[in-house]
Amino acid sequence: MEPASLAFRAHARRALADEELQRALARLRRNFQERRARAVAALPEFEELRRAGEAIRDQVLARLDHHLEVFVARARAAGTVVHVAETAADARRIVLDLLRSRGVRLVTKSKSMVAEEVGLAEAVEDAGIARVETDLGEYIIQLAHEPPSHLIGPAVHMTEARIARLFAEAHGGPPEREPERLVAQARRVLRRKYLDAGAGITGANFLVAETGSIITVTNEGNAELTQGLPPLHIVVTGIEKLVPTMEDAFTLLRLLARSATGQEFATYTTVITGPRRPGDRDGPEEMHLVLVDNGRTALLGSRLQPMLRCIRCSACMNHCPVYLAVGGHAYGWTYVGPMGAVLTPALAGLERTWPLPEASTFCGRCAEVCPVRIPLPDLMRVWREEAFARRLPPATQRHGLRLWAFLARRPALYRAAFAPAVRLLARLGGRRRRLRRLPLAGGWTAARDLPAPEGPTFLARVRRR
Ligand code: SF4
Repeated sequence: MEPASLAFRAHARRALADEELQRALARLRRNFQERRARAVAALPEFEELRRAGEAIRDQVLARLDHHLEVFVARARAAGTVVHVAETAADARRIVLDLLRSRGVRLVTKSKSMVAEEVGLAEAVEDAGIARVETDLGEYIIQLAHEPPSHLIGPAVHMTEARIARLFAEAHGGPPEREPERLVAQARRVLRRKYLDAGAGITGANFLVAETGSIITVTNEGNAELTQGLPPLHIVVTGIEKLVPTMEDAFTLLRLLARSATGQEFATYTTVITGPRRPGDRDGPEEMHLVLVDNGRTALLGSRLQPMLRCIRCSACMNHCPVYLAVGGHAYGWTYVGPMGAVLTPALAGLERTWPLPEASTFCGRCAEVCPVRIPLPDLMRVWREEAFARRLPPATQRHGLRLWAFLARRPALYRAAFAPAVRLLARLGGRRRRLRRLPLAGGWTAARDLPAPEGPTFLARVRRR
């Protein structure tokens, strides 16, 4: 999928006017935030765990090549065929070659953001191979022909009424509103597909170097059926998912579940080490792992390296006032919310994705809740600096910033320039002390009034005392 982030502002405007989306986002706000807050309150050592998670991820990134070497050797020893895809096109080619060479006609697929990133679903369909998404949320958006709007809840932008309509169209019968019945319908359809599929494609939450294992986490058990029933299992994941040891993986799993859904642990956490062995009762005959780089190594050693710590928990977007106002589709690509505002320009290019790093109020909540302590606002600031240097923001914004920087370095001049402006705005605010319109800065007042300054500036008041 090509990034459409350049249209962020237009998408956001549409999203704000979409009543059904706004209802869905209100529900999301309540659910995820409250559950995470309860889970964190119940674990006094949560902050300690966050620091441990950060250290594990940094340790991996500092020696990624070494951990990769160890992992690949162990995975191969366990019977997994490892492929390395430098680009998205390489990843698609490797997977399609595998499917075609085995004559696969139907693929089951569990949720994988990396597969989404490299455009695998479209490539499989374009090759004439049927694809069925097995994660319930992914199954819903497949029926709706829409991309995911959230890392762990791909269909969170939809209301139950819309899902009921979609299911009625796809499965026949009257629209069914009871969530349990909708789930039962999807299960009936999917069970048959698992048995008929020639291959199952999954992602991986972690890759464990010491054992050569992959770990998948779901709440529906669909990744297990996707990887275990068809004869061919293909894992598509990013090279940064490595952890040195199983113990490290479990530290991160404790953080992941609490930060994502407020659970102590996800319902299904599965460790897979190679395909079926002689004597095993089930499992795939072949297991292939596609390790995707697609721009990740370029981040190593850069100021944006901390972004590679991400464990895709979604806490940052669940607490982001911008994401919660406009939803995921406004971001125009696979990764959304604050993590998307940093990662998308890194993977797809800043020119093609500006103004995503501006999609933030810099309130800092994303960094406060991130389980691996990624300083997301600081990283967005790195992109803003870069965009300024490449002249991506409009000229008025650039010249305004230049003028502000000039004045901010000269306090006397700053005061002389701003004091009359502050007095004027205070007068314009009138008795209501609110400004309905601001000349040259209409964006501030387009959707709400701006509180007018109340009398003299803060510094003037301090001096007067
Ligand atoms: S940036 Fe942090 S909070 Fe956001 S998805 Fe990644 S790990 Fe979770």
